[in-house]
Amino acid sequence: MKKQRPKVLREHFEQSEDERLASYAVKSGESRGRVFKEPEHVFRTAFQRDRDRIVYSTAFRRLEYKTQVFVNHEGDHYRTRLTHTVEMTLIARTVGRALRLNEDLIEAVALAHDLGHGPFGHAGEAALARLMKDHGGFEHNQQCLRLVEELEESYSNFPGLNLTSEVREGLKKHDHSQVRSLEADVVDVADSIAYNCHDLDDGLRAGLLDLETTRSSISIWNHILGDIERKYRSLPQNIKIKTAIRFMMNQLVMDLIEQTEQNIKKFKIHSCKDAASHKGHLASFSPPFSGLMRELKQFLQVNLYEHYRVVRMTEKGQRFIQEIFEVYVDKPKQLPPQVLERKKKYGLERCVCDYIAGMTDRFALDERQRLFSPYERV
Ligand code: MG
Repeated sequence: MKKQRPKVLREHFEQSEDERLASYAVKSGESRGRVFKEPEHVFRTAFQRDRDRIVYSTAFRRLEYKTQVFVNHEGDHYRTRLTHTVEMTLIARTVGRALRLNEDLIEAVALAHDLGHGPFGHAGEAALARLMKDHGGFEHNQQCLRLVEELEESYSNFPGLNLTSEVREGLKKHDHSQVRSLEADVVDVADSIAYNCHDLDDGLRAGLLDLETTRSSISIWNHILGDIERKYRSLPQNIKIKTAIRFMMNQLVMDLIEQTEQNIKKFKIHSCKDAASHKGHLASFSPPFSGLMRELKQFLQVNLYEHYRVVRMTEKGQRFIQEIFEVYVDKPKQLPPQVLERKKKYGLERCVCDYIAGMTDRFALDERQRLFSPYERV
């Protein structure tokens, strides 16, 4: 069969980035490359290729059954880690496009940003951090890097996904000793817009938050609801909430774009090197919106994340993780052989921690049954 060459080659996209993107955007043609050398792809840029590798990874598919706030089986309409990831990627790309940043790099970092979360959300992370205290600790951003650099098994000639250094750096939490792009900075703030807005939405939907209390406690929310009530009279409550969430996201995104543009001007950011060497976040809200976001975040902390029903879910999750962890460490032969195999390289506790961190809520619940329930098949 005659080999077909695509008409639009990688070089075309690289050139179009040079023409379209801002001077401070990261260009895929100037990537610092991968740890294991590979030939470039014919028609995908380096960052497009990274994005695809992330979506095809096992860790990415597991996001579907991992907790955002609500444990997976609580209901079908709440956000999961996967839908959170998709929503925040949309926000990050919108902001990146408006600022003429590299959307492919943003998309890759955004899609991967939560891969390191274990089952049961932040409660699961806290449990693993406690259990691993004397064995090197556990933190989801570090685990995300570990996954893409070592644990994913898909390629014959290297461990992990062999992503470009720009994507891997974007997955590290801000640390001023690191080279960091504006693209990665945008992903961080987009994450906070996504979870603050959808957690408020899910909390109201679940009946854990009450509309009147949210109004009297969150000023931006109250203001937006007031506007909507003046504009559209007698909207059913569920439509009113959805409309208000949309309006709020829109205002936050607009403020973020405008303030970040101002920061870029103010700090004379002309190249991605200027952005990387800048101390502090270039992507940020204006001072009034930072205050509004803080208020929203604190409200959710006290009223949603510490709601007795959420605490019950998360405490259960923590307890299960601890039980599974201890049982494996006590009798490692209960671990599947391919998991136990990694003990030689990483030590027992780390290999158990990696195994549990990879579990979805669903798998962890089933596994606990298999380990503890006498009637369950193993
Ligand atoms: Mg996130």
